Amino acid sequence: MTTTAQASFDTLQAAMRGPVIQPADAGYDAARAVYNAMIDRRPAAIARCADVADVMTAVKFAGDTGQTVAVRGGGHNAAGLGVWDDALVIDLSTMRGVTVDPADKTVRAEGGCVWGDVDHATGGFGLATPSGILSTTGVGGLTLGGGIGYLARRYGLTVDNLLAADVVLADGSFVTASEDSHPDLFWALRGGGGNFGVVTSFQFRCHDVGTVVAGPVLYDLADTAAVMRWYRELLPKLPEELSGWLALITIPPAPPFPEELWMRKAAEHADEALAPVRSFGTPLLDGIQPMPYPVLQTVFDALYPAGLQWYWRADFFREITDQAIAVHEEFGAALPTPHSTMHMYPIDGAVHRVSPDATAFSYRDAGWAGVIVGVDPDPANAGKIRDWAVRYWEALHPTSAGGAYVNFMMDEGTDRVRASYGPNYDRLARVKAHYDPDNFFRINQNIPPAR
Ligand SMILES: Cc1cc2nc3c(=O)[nH]c(=O)nc-3n(C[C@H](O)[C@H](O)[C@H](O)COP(=O)(O)OP(=O)(O)OC[C@H]3O[C@@H](n4cnc5c(N)ncnc54)[C@H](O)[C@@H]3O)c2cc1C
Repeated sequence: MTTTAQASFDTLQAAMRGPVIQPADAGYDAARAVYNAMIDRRPAAIARCADVADVMTAVKFAGDTGQTVAVRGGGHNAAGLGVWDDALVIDLSTMRGVTVDPADKTVRAEGGCVWGDVDHATGGFGLATPSGILSTTGVGGLTLGGGIGYLARRYGLTVDNLLAADVVLADGSFVTASEDSHPDLFWALRGGGGNFGVVTSFQFRCHDVGTVVAGPVLYDLADTAAVMRWYRELLPKLPEELSGWLALITIPPAPPFPEELWMRKAAEHADEALAPVRSFGTPLLDGIQPMPYPVLQTVFDALYPAGLQWYWRADFFREITDQAIAVHEEFGAALPTPHSTMHMYPIDGAVHRVSPDATAFSYRDAGWAGVIVGVDPDPANAGKIRDWAVRYWEALHPTSAGGAYVNFMMDEGTDRVRASYGPNYDRLARVKAHYDPDNFFRINQNIPPAR
């Protein structure tokens, strides 16, 4: 770093309450690390914002000095888009305040929260808002991409429960977006990713969710085709209180899984409540049991700690065809490492009842969001997990609906981003032109401004 750059960041530091971490600082390597250890980027500095004023200061500073900006929420992004070489990272990771309004059944979460922060706070009141399947994922990135999880069939995507967002725009100004205030921006934030500004807080609608009956049901990998055929028929008939995603996994060599199943390859479907879903075959394990909803959200956390290598590929699917099932059987039998997996999340129920053009998230008519992830602790296996994921995806993609969930994508280029938004893409580009005409926020699944 040049002395001039150093002096310039010292000026930023003087104006901020949170620290501006520079390459020479002791905490720099920890601060630039993200969840996916395959990402090894060296930003020019990391502005760890303490509050909204810090965010406005950092955005204005970057604008005045021509600095590229990356915005970091929970740091979980597949492509590591919360950190970028030579950029100023606007790091929200210490802005994690959560306030529940139990009378209105709403929750307000600051932009750097992870879902565990929110679930803990709402769980105290027997409430929850739909999120994903882990407690360590960031509220910021997950929400802005859509938000697919256990409660989606019943209560919709995370964005379907977003009531308002406080946003610092590219010029450093602050607005609140909702149905009544900056409605175009509010529309774009509900699926359009980090393209439109830094969201400093989200307000969500909550639902009465206390104890749930949930857990994994594991079948032998040889049953993959039969489980998939059975479940694709069953799911549409299930009440929306029930949900379950499909996975191909290797059973981890750790409790709570019984020792005799450790490292065995399995087809999984994890459910909430259920007689009909217990009706099929002879599972290797039926782990369904009552638990508080915030506990369900943490069940898989320990299997996937931060610091593993991750390579992602994804698509939406209208249905799971017989051709697709044959591909799943082939690549499920060839899981390259014990952590590698494939998940299929239902997109139906309440998600289908929202019009595809009501929010930026457009694949409302998909049946499933699929994701293939090669995962391993050892960087030496990076090539192996990447090759498996890419070959699996190439074989499966012809059975897909065309685009993918942006939150499950690596850096795959403009055409893939366009495909993810379908008919909503042009409106997103127009909203981008209005709120961020210079593409200041471009380290994301980028939607360049319409010209
Ligand atoms: C193990 C694992 C499990 C997952 N499970 C699910 C799941 O069940 N359901 C699901 O829908 N997704 C899931 N995801 C995907 C997840 O939604 C994305 O990885 C998402 O990008 C993570 O958000 P983040 O804030 O942690 O990421 P970050 O890396 O911090 O940010 C991701 C992107 O969002 C932007 N961003 C983040 N916060 C803000 C903000 N406050 N304001 C403006 N821009 C912001 C960033 O600039 C960046 O472009 C999972 C990911 C992982 C790694």
